[in-house]
Amino acid sequence: MNLARHDMQPDRAPIRRLEEATANRIAAGEVVERPASAVKELVENALDAGARHVDVAIAAGGRSLIRVADDGCGIPAGELALAVERHATSKIKGGDLVDLHHFGFRGEALPSIGAVARLSITSRAQGADAAAAIEVTAGKLAPVRPAALARGTVVEVRDLFFATPARLKFLRSEMAEQRAITETLRRLALAAPATGFQLRDISDGGAGRSLMRLEPGGFDADGALRARIRAILGPQFVENAIPVAAEREGVRLSGFAALPTYSRGASVQQFLFVNGRPVEDRLLGGALRAAYADLLPRGRYPAAVLFIACEGARVDVNVHPAKAEVRFREPGLVRGLVVSALTHALAGAGHRSATTISRAALGAFRPPEAPSAAARQAAERFQAPPLPSAPGFAEALGAQSWSAPAEPAPEAAPEAEIPPLGLARAQLHETYILAQTADGVVLVDQHAAHERLVYERMKAARAEGGVPAQSLLTPEVVELPAEACSRVLEAAGELAALGLDVEPFGGRAVCVRATPAPLGPCDAAALVRDIADALQAEAGEDPLRTRLDAVISRMSCHGSVRAGRRMNAAEMNALLREMEATPFSGQCNHGRPTWVALSLADIERLFGRR
Ligand code: ADP
Ligand code: MG
Repeated sequence: MNLARHDMQPDRAPIRRLEEATANRIAAGEVVERPASAVKELVENALDAGARHVDVAIAAGGRSLIRVADDGCGIPAGELALAVERHATSKIKGGDLVDLHHFGFRGEALPSIGAVARLSITSRAQGADAAAAIEVTAGKLAPVRPAALARGTVVEVRDLFFATPARLKFLRSEMAEQRAITETLRRLALAAPATGFQLRDISDGGAGRSLMRLEPGGFDADGALRARIRAILGPQFVENAIPVAAEREGVRLSGFAALPTYSRGASVQQFLFVNGRPVEDRLLGGALRAAYADLLPRGRYPAAVLFIACEGARVDVNVHPAKAEVRFREPGLVRGLVVSALTHALAGAGHRSATTISRAALGAFRPPEAPSAAARQAAERFQAPPLPSAPGFAEALGAQSWSAPAEPAPEAAPEAEIPPLGLARAQLHETYILAQTADGVVLVDQHAAHERLVYERMKAARAEGGVPAQSLLTPEVVELPAEACSRVLEAAGELAALGLDVEPFGGRAVCVRATPAPLGPCDAAALVRDIADALQAEAGEDPLRTRLDAVISRMSCHGSVRAGRRMNAAEMNALLREMEATPFSGQCNHGRPTWVALSLADIERLFGRR
């Protein structure tokens, strides 16, 4: 075939300029991928026009109809024809692509949509005494005509892609397209909290079915943003989120990041904005992931709403036709800013854990009869206590060793001295610690909590130059599958730095000479087998750091107090005190909470006393 091609005379045509309609259709392929991208362009235009209300109506997932109505500044009748012409925009002065204060600037959306659909624009410019309309059908313009409209602009897109049937084939189900439209609107609505939004499905005619309704925010911009976040991500996100604010060399980061215990099964609750523009940026997404890498297991995703702001010259928003991606001049700076700000914010949240899971757990506390209104109300309020600040316990920690408790626990203490996680009162089912706090009770999952503490101890030791090793009295020989054996031996150097000494023992065996000291006495064979698994599971993942974190996580599990082990009061209190002093102790290595709390007031409500 290739040979034949060499022999062929190319059938060369002279270079010609593309017809405008063809050029627009090509551009449409990039700008308008699916109904949601048309919605995005039209709503961005409405926001650029200063709209306070944007109403979006769709039919058949946006395939048969998208109608966006706004109360913005409108388009003068004399400019309607220009608005649908390629590369015509009112949003750039001169050639400056740096100081962009609008979503749009490429002047491509309307001509692109007009090239592949039936587009009509009706608009009444501010101060004009009449409205006008223009229609474009598959790139063909109809003359501007007078129309009726009180204010603003209504853009209607019918039969998207009817002019490019190949594109139609790529569309997903109406339901999936509708979901994508909703998602697009949610992102834009977070970017514009002052504007009210409505999304309706009018497939069945009439006023349609409301899919989303957001009131415009008030004058207080901060309050408006908070209200919008609550409306879009839900009250549980707000309850579980911590504010983030940081600046580095003129790049500012603000927003909210959820506690790791509020993680999701997908990245659906990640909203990133750069200079007010919603982006799906890899750099930022990666930085967000990195900040939580240590706190979440595989397959769990952090939830966050983050805004980056910087001078226009430091970020290029013109690298993607739909402007979903951006390019930072100083990517390292931005990544570092996001990772460190989030890490600090999360560390500041200390041993706080999510309220959400606690709520679900409360079901078990409910009385057997139909729950009373008071009990339901109590359920609503069941949550982890606010952030404690307990500097004193950090010091206490150094004296008290977890595995070798010295003094008996105090029986009772004056209220002021009760530490945030309370004083241990009982161990339940050899699995849970029940502690009395100043104003309620705390229930701790002893294994989960201890595992996290060991993990943090191991990491701290590694950061300080290496995890101390504890030599075994008799070295232990462990047989492994051939592949696992060589994987463990390849990592021997790194494992030694984690306090685990392994050597080849011929064939498929390794000899374990020492185990990590922070783990205490542990089953060396089981530990090595588990690590072989961890190394295999992470084999595809190149960064060594990620692999070692997984190894440390496995190791911690081995050093932890198992569920089922009986503990005395001193041991339990030592565990509580160490939790208070350890960052990230509110969740275990698998992202589950390590403790839950119930306040006295809530208990009283459960019993109908309040
Ligand atoms: P861009 O937004 O990049 O300028 P568009 O093709 O989306 O390009 O729109 C072209 C022009 O039409 C805009 O610059 C704006 O002047 C005008 N326009 C479009 N939609 C609206 C609207 N809803 N309200 C007011 N003006 C609009
Ligand atoms: Mg536009």
